[in-house]
Amino acid sequence: MTKLTLEQMYTALAHDEFDERHYGAIQIPVYQNSLFAFDTYQQFEHAFEEMLGNHIYSRGNNPTVEFLEGKLAMLEGAEAARCFASGMAAISAAIFSSVRAGDHIVCVSNAYGPAKQVMGEYLKRFGVETSFVEGSRFEAVQEAVRPNTKLIYLESPSSQMFELIDLKQCADLAKGIGARTIIDNTWATPIFQNPLEFGIDLVVHSITKYIAGHSDALGGVVMGASELMKPLSYDEYMLFGGIMTAHTAAMVLRGLRTLPVRMERCQASGLKVANWLETSSFVERVYHPGLPSHPQHELAKKQLKGYSSLFSFESKQPIERLKAWASKLKLFKIAVSWGGYESLVTVGRNTDVSSGEVKTVVRLYIGLESPDDLIRDMQETWQEVAASASLDRV
Ligand SMILES: *Cc1c(COP(=O)(O)O)cnc(C)c1O
Repeated sequence: MTKLTLEQMYTALAHDEFDERHYGAIQIPVYQNSLFAFDTYQQFEHAFEEMLGNHIYSRGNNPTVEFLEGKLAMLEGAEAARCFASGMAAISAAIFSSVRAGDHIVCVSNAYGPAKQVMGEYLKRFGVETSFVEGSRFEAVQEAVRPNTKLIYLESPSSQMFELIDLKQCADLAKGIGARTIIDNTWATPIFQNPLEFGIDLVVHSITKYIAGHSDALGGVVMGASELMKPLSYDEYMLFGGIMTAHTAAMVLRGLRTLPVRMERCQASGLKVANWLETSSFVERVYHPGLPSHPQHELAKKQLKGYSSLFSFESKQPIERLKAWASKLKLFKIAVSWGGYESLVTVGRNTDVSSGEVKTVVRLYIGLESPDDLIRDMQETWQEVAASASLDRV
């Protein structure tokens, strides 16, 4: 598949090829039907010869969902895509399609928590073992490989501490031992990173975040070569049944139309806020792959075409004071998830995998507001919280 440039993505998302069934409707209709009827028994039987190439039942193929899958595959540079009810449905499908009893998985320890639970806990019941390794070192992945390793599961950049791993090195290692690679590419979106280019086998995204982009829909997608996607469609897609509905697909398509413009805005705003935080008294260190101070900034420039606006910072301030600050912020809501129009904040403790040190980490999602307003809000609120803390001590 040829990879599109950012400018080509803009045009491809704003322009559709139609067939006559749409009567010139500018957006694809919501095919709100569970089944597709046939005129003759011959046509009916013919459709079953290639179930996924035909429209029989919406737990297999639905035209609205297929239309979205086509657009996502085009952006990612993949031969095929399948959309699921959530990011986790997509991730579980991709993992289950890659291993069987007796296999071993190497997974980066900074991967999304529930995905780690699927591999580290749930799959044990089926005789699959998982080793978790430091997610910023290729050597750690290499050392964990066993003769029965059949899957290397990656997330880069990760979504708490924003560490990267060399995708090409991991893909080459996997190819050499007959294992498969899956990457969670949610942070970068298909606009800013295309892991298939580096030889990764399957790319998964939580559509819920930037792709849907409006905090109003849940979804997930798996993308890759047809050879891998076909068995996944027949087994994990159709048998688990965690499909995306036509209605959700239409909502996601509406968000997808503006994905590049939102990502460019988020990139600029995120970097502006991150740069400001680096100069702030209450910040120890900012974790953003786009900053020259990020230890893997050179690798980031090699693998990523841009930076999204989810990042974190470490603070030496008391955690209760940081929580008071987060509570008083006017333009940031306290919430999980990210990728919508609205800025978000969470405060937590994170263990540094290399040093074992426990750090207080504030994760920020920068939405579509004015970055200057966001900076002013953070600065003024910090002054207020710091002033009342010094009064407490008197
Ligand atoms: C949210 C998220 C997921 C899970 O997606 P859901 O749509 O919530 O199931 C997976 N990976 C990352 C990095 C996420 O942020």
